[in-house]
Amino acid sequence: TELTQEWLQEYVDDWVSFYRKRTADGEVASYIPILEEANRDHLGISIVGNNGMTVRSGDADIPFTIQSISKVLTFVVACMERGLSYILDRVDVEPTGGSFNSIMHLEISRVEKPFNPFVNAGAITVTSMLEGKTSDQKLEPFYELLEKMLDYRPALNVDVYESERDSSMRNRAIGYYLLETGFLESDLNVTLETYFKQCSVEITIDDLARIGMIIANDGENPANQEEIIPRQVARLAKALMLTCGMYDASGKFAAYVGVPAKSGVSGGIIALSPSRARDETLPFMSGCGIGVYGPALDDKGNSIAGIRLLRHIANQWDLSVF
Ligand code: GLU
Repeated sequence: TELTQEWLQEYVDDWVSFYRKRTADGEVASYIPILEEANRDHLGISIVGNNGMTVRSGDADIPFTIQSISKVLTFVVACMERGLSYILDRVDVEPTGGSFNSIMHLEISRVEKPFNPFVNAGAITVTSMLEGKTSDQKLEPFYELLEKMLDYRPALNVDVYESERDSSMRNRAIGYYLLETGFLESDLNVTLETYFKQCSVEITIDDLARIGMIIANDGENPANQEEIIPRQVARLAKALMLTCGMYDASGKFAAYVGVPAKSGVSGGIIALSPSRARDETLPFMSGCGIGVYGPALDDKGNSIAGIRLLRHIANQWDLSVF
């Protein structure tokens, strides 16, 4: 088959309309009150190939907040600012098998360090290591990285930020624990403010697909070979996405879908297919990035229809890295 954009589009349209009917078993996140306003029936996908070709389908134009997907980017920024070994001395790279906001796992790892940068404890620790005194100073390089990848500067959704800030008892508890155990490298309030802001940046699935595409290509923009993220950092980010990206369903996602991905409670998922030599059969998918949005979540906090759609695509197009 000749792989034209039209051919891919037809498949993706069919699959999206099929899985869009399968959001009913999911629930929209409610622990951050404003997220409950999302439409549970939405499902959209955007795929960006490393040649820039884009296939998008479903509810592709709905902006949503980046939430936990921001943890990939603050980890990248912190590694670029401080160097890999500095960060890895302070945050581990092991999956917890527990929920994203687990306090129990923090206590287990007390003498060591937070398990990984994608659970809240690890992410808050990473955020505390960002350079700068105020939350805006700390987030400036994060915004600059986004701008470099997306060619525009995404904005903060102030309503989500305030809702998050005012309903953040668990994250404050984690913050105090990190303070007590000596992991925080910045003032607690500044760190939490930075963390709530990074989660409340508004993006679209096209943005996620583009970010995914650059990470898939080891941090390089294939259009001009510019290094946006150092190769070693991009590789580590992919390994963490594969092992820790989908909360405590990361093992199942690796087994049944098999690509690096990171989800967020607003219903977004960033996924990517690393470039591989054998990909002559489906060149568009080699080194592509995928953004998915579907706010109805399963009991682990992942987009219920989004995971099913990704699983279907990965199986049909043989995307598993294994
Ligand atoms: N801001 C959210 C929290 O920390 C992010 C959680 C997520 O997306 O997993 O509770």
